[in-house]
Formats: sequence, structure tokens, C-alpha cells
Amino acid sequence: MVTKPLTARELGQLTAGLRRLTRNLWWSWDQEAQEIFHDLSPRGWQNLYHNAVAILAELSDYELRMRLQEPGLAERVRRVLQNFDAYLADTDTWGNRHAASLKKNPVAYFSAEFSFHETLPIAAGGLGVLAGDHAKASSDLDLPFIGVSLFYREGYFQQLINHENWQTESYTRLDPENLPIEPVLDESGKPIVCTVRIAASTVLFQAWRVNVGRVPVYLLDANRPENEAHIRDLTLRVYGGDHATRIMQEVLLGVGGVRLLRTLGIKPSTFHMNEGHAAFLTLELIREKMAAGDTFQKAGAATRQQCIFTTHTPVEAGHDRFPSDLMNYVGMKFHQHLRLTPDQLMDLGRVRPGDTSELFCMTVLALKYSRAANGVSDLHGQVSRTMWMELFGKTDPDDVPIGHITNGIHLAGWMKGVVRRTWKQKFHEVYPDKPESAWLKELNTSEFWLKMADPLTISDEELWSLRYRLRRELIEFTRRRLLLQGQRFSQGDFITFDAFLNPDALTIGFARRFATYKRAPLIFDQFENVVALVRDLKRPIQFLFSGKAHPRDDAGKVFIQKIIHLSNYSDLKGHVVFIENYDIHVARQMVGGCDIWLNNPRRPLEASGTSGMKTIPHGGLNLSILDGWWREAYDGSNGFAIGDDSHAADLEEQDRQDSENLYHMLTTEVIPEFFERDADGIPRGWLKRIRRAWVTMAAQFSTDRMVREYTDKYYKQTD
Ligand SMILES: *Cc1c(COP(=O)(O)O)cnc(C)c1O
Repeated sequence: MVTKPLTARELGQLTAGLRRLTRNLWWSWDQEAQEIFHDLSPRGWQNLYHNAVAILAELSDYELRMRLQEPGLAERVRRVLQNFDAYLADTDTWGNRHAASLKKNPVAYFSAEFSFHETLPIAAGGLGVLAGDHAKASSDLDLPFIGVSLFYREGYFQQLINHENWQTESYTRLDPENLPIEPVLDESGKPIVCTVRIAASTVLFQAWRVNVGRVPVYLLDANRPENEAHIRDLTLRVYGGDHATRIMQEVLLGVGGVRLLRTLGIKPSTFHMNEGHAAFLTLELIREKMAAGDTFQKAGAATRQQCIFTTHTPVEAGHDRFPSDLMNYVGMKFHQHLRLTPDQLMDLGRVRPGDTSELFCMTVLALKYSRAANGVSDLHGQVSRTMWMELFGKTDPDDVPIGHITNGIHLAGWMKGVVRRTWKQKFHEVYPDKPESAWLKELNTSEFWLKMADPLTISDEELWSLRYRLRRELIEFTRRRLLLQGQRFSQGDFITFDAFLNPDALTIGFARRFATYKRAPLIFDQFENVVALVRDLKRPIQFLFSGKAHPRDDAGKVFIQKIIHLSNYSDLKGHVVFIENYDIHVARQMVGGCDIWLNNPRRPLEASGTSGMKTIPHGGLNLSILDGWWREAYDGSNGFAIGDDSHAADLEEQDRQDSENLYHMLTTEVIPEFFERDADGIPRGWLKRIRRAWVTMAAQFSTDRMVREYTDKYYKQTD
């Protein structure tokens, strides 16, 4: 076929279109768009860590025009740009049907961290991933939604493990020019600058916009030349610095965030605080009303109607608490503006007003000024109600007004390429008459997964070979990573990891923050038993670990050290590995390739957990304590449970029981079922379980379901 050469005009449109596309993260959950960036520069794709902005920046306009003359490429770009524009312009949306009332007054969602893509590392873990997925699903649903967070120019740390197997942290400066963000400018093209008073300083800040499909997320940035050095560093690192930095960051997020929205002329109907970090926004909303003449009482009551709050942690230390001297120092003007005494201000964050021994708790402030509050799973809702009984003056937890909405994941965003391609192709086969764009919506329905789970849609043979391929891809990825890790210590010796890991082995993954309650090394409490399992060459199994400990969490670092130490033990070498520098890219590889996703938190401290949900569309299975989401999801046939719906009160006893139960499940159910093969070498029972997992969980534990639930329950006001 002879194609007409492109006109200069067409070329100009396509190159401009591509550059526009790099500045909207929609591309990161569209397979064809991703493939274009990959194909434009396969080397850049790898070396620049999938950074589409940087990849295009490395291609001159001339080169890009030449590339677009390659057969087929221009046509692909045109199609992707059409799909992108159609996505943005679509009006046949859930949001239009169910949340049109929010169009004028959207939901503003404040979160100290957001995680969208590996090139924008401004999050520490699950909370940020959840916020990012909330934004993506809001975009897909067309919910009027605006995110607010901070732009940390050194982001979260890169993890390097040293000679003593000890985690060290290094930071790299992010270059806004090369990130999928845009400065927020005024009409004359200059950055919009707002101010917020923090301690003795008037802090100037600007903002960056991340385009997440239809949804804007604004990142506040104190790095302005007018600010003193220590103020400029306020937004240096995610949860960086000490208590003082923390509270100052939170003032910037809460108070500054409201100011920015006002400057942009945005009038949210609901302010959603994702965790207590953002709770100072309530004080700014009260201040606004008092400046217009309201009393504190009246302003407080009206503010309460504007806010909702999601709490994420049943761990006491997870709730920010500040002493009065810090509150007085940082919030110098707060009490004056609110016409309160410093002690009355402190009382807003106290369970027992007047008790001067009590610190100022951000969660308490958020709960006091929210019309609705929720935990993130059924069990976490219960735990939270018990935890805050006193605050609400109740003696029965059931009377505490905290509900729950279980977390989810953004399915399209979490799938590995091969899986996204598979489901998309199956979608076209099953629904030949539905338009291409319908896929993104159908993907979140249980009907879709019911169809996908039908062996007529995907046969056992096809499914098992997909699993094999995913496991292989993970192993190749891991070996590459191990090579990079090993090179630092090799001192010129040639190290190879080709003999590490086995693509036929039952592959068990554990990856998340190394908070100690998550008990990463729990399985090794059964050390002798694990060694015996690994030695069984007829039924090979292997373990992959990854995760970062908070820079100041030495106990978490000891866990990392222990696992790496054990992975070098001769019997385990090559069967137990630790992948450095966990992030969402590593997460995607792992949830894609692991057969078993292991989660063994100390119940009930895992409020929800989401990483296990990410494994489901890939055909992975969960093996987990019945905590958080898994307690709701597990039905006896869609994965595996460790223990039952209870836990010992004594912590040591709990650890002992859980590690025994974990080992017991592995040896009596997981391993036998995985290796029970028929004449064709296929584990039919295992595959049946995967199909059950799709039918029972894929749609249910999506942010599509979650955001619809937030909208119906909390965002839409019925008054
Ligand atoms: C999903 C995810 C998490 C959350 O994992 P949990 O098991 O819920 O703790 C943390 N970090 C990254 C990078 C993730 O992708």
C-alpha cells in the first residue's frame, strides 16, 4: 500500500498532538499511547524510565517529523490522538448522569501525597497510590474533581542497600521541565503566586498542574526566589524533616490549598480530606467565613457541612499530633483570625478539650469539622469507631458516626501491557459491536469479568501460558535489577544472575512499605521449614521481596537487612531475592508476575491494603491474613486465607500463630494445588480459583466502584 506523504500541516498537528499527550497522564493507562512512546525511542523508554515528556524532549521536531513518515506510525498517532480527544469530550458519562450537580461546584480532594506514575515520585506509598487511583477513576467516570497536594522537588527517596544490607536514602532533584506537569499561569503568562502565613514568614508559593485525564491535580510549591532558603525547602521532600517541617507542610497544604482554589475561582462543594494531613483546610474555611462577618460557631457549623474526611490508619503513631508550642509558633495567626485563645485553638484538636496534656491531633480536627467520615474497609470502620468513641461522647462504637468505603484500584492503570492487550482483545471478541471507547467503562463491571472468566473466552491453556509469560517477564526484570544492584558491590568481578529464579516455580511476592506491623519477614519465623520447601526440587518455589522503610524507621530497616541476609544463605540463594528501590513500576512487575501475593499484617492494623487487588486482573492469587479488604473479599474459593476472622490479643502469640498458619496454608493448600497438574501440565484447580477471583473481586475492588460509592454516599449532598 502506498501512503500519501504527510503534509507539513498534518505533521505539525501530529507532533503538537504528541507533545500535548505527554502532558496528560491519560497516556499512562492507554496501551496504544504507551506503545507509541516506546516505539519512538525504545532505548529512551528504558533509560528515561518511561518518561514520555523526556523522550519527546530528546527528539527534535525534525527527527520526530522524519519518524512520522515511517509506515503506520502516523496512522497510529492519529488514532491515539482521536481516542484521547474523544475521551476528553465524551459526554455520555456516569458523571453526567449521576453527578451533574457537581459540575459547577466540584469535589476538591486534598492529599499530602499522590502517586500517578513512576516519573513523578511524590508519594511514600499506598496512601498516594490510592489518591492517584481516585483521581484516575474520577476522570474515567467524569466526576467533577480537583486534586490538591504539594510538589516535592526531591520527591521520595531512592533506596540503596549498602554493604551491611542496610537501607540508605538518596535524593535526586526533579526537573519540572521534564515532568508531566505544567506551571499554573495567569493571563499574562506569569506563574500565579499565592501567600500563606506560616510562623513568622509570609510564604509565597506557586503551583503545578498535573493533567490526569479530565482531572486537574494542583501541586503547591514553596520554592520561590522571594522566600528564605528554609522556606523554599518546605516542599523539598515527602514527609521530610522534623515535626516542625511536617506541620508547616500541612499548613501549606491545607490553608495554601484553599487559597489557590480561591485564586483560580474554583468553588468546591465538598472538601475531601484524604487523611489528617490536610485538616488545616478547615481552619481556613472557618477564617474565610469569619472575615465575612460570621461568628466562630456559625462559621464552624457551615464549614462542617463542606467537608468530609477519610481516615486511613488504625496505628496510633499514624495520626499526626503536634505540641502546643509548635502550634503556637507555626499557627501564630490562626487563633487571632479565629478569635480564639491559643488554648481554645489547641482544643480543636483534642479529644478532651481543656486537657492541656493532650497534643493537637489532626485527625481530631478533621473529625470535628466533617459532615461525614469514613474508614477504608469494613473492619477498619469498626476499629475507627472504637478508637474515636470518646471524641464523640459515645460508649457504644456503633453510635460513632464513622462509616466505611473499602478502597480499590484503577484497573486499567495497573495492568501490565500484555494483560491490557489481552483483555482489550478479548473485549473486542466478546463485544464486537461495542465501540473501542467502551472498553474502559466495561472493564469495571462484574459482567465483563464474568465473561472473561468463561473458559470459552480464555481457555485454560491460554490462561496458563499468559501466567507463564508474566512470571517470565517478572524474572527477567528482577534479574536485570539484581544485576544493577550487584554491580555496585562487584568491584570489577563479573556477576551474573541468570541462574537466579525459575520461571516454573511457584512465585510468591511481598512488596509494600516496610512498616513493622506489616511483618515482612514473618515467613522466616519458620526458617527451617522454608529451607525444606525451597529444597524440594520437584515443587520449586521462590520468594520476591521489595519495599522501602521510612528513613527514620530503624526497625523497618532491620527487617530489610534480615531478608537480604537470609537471601544470601546458601540454601536460599537464588530462591529468595530482594528488589531494591520499590516504586509503582516495580509494583506493577511484581503484581503481574507473582502467582501468590502474600500479605501478613498484624491484624487489625492493615486498614485496607490495595496491592493484593492489583494482582487480580493479572491472574495472581492472594494469600493473606483476614484483615482490611481481604476480610471482605475472601470467599473460600477466590484465593487463600491465613488464619480466621480473629486474632490473638498478645502480640507474640499472634506472630507465632500467624507464621504457623501461613506455613500450614502454603504446605497443605497453596503448593499442592499449584503443582497438581493434569496430563497437559495444567493446574486446573488453580486456574479455577483465578477465574473465581476475577468474578468476585475485579470490579468490586476497583476505584470505579469506590469513587461511585463516595459520590453517592458523601459527595452528593441531599439537602
Ligand atoms: C499498591 C502500592 C502500595 C500499597 O501496598 P499495600 O499492600 O496496600 O500496603 C504501596 N506502594 C506502592 C508503590 C504501591 O504500588
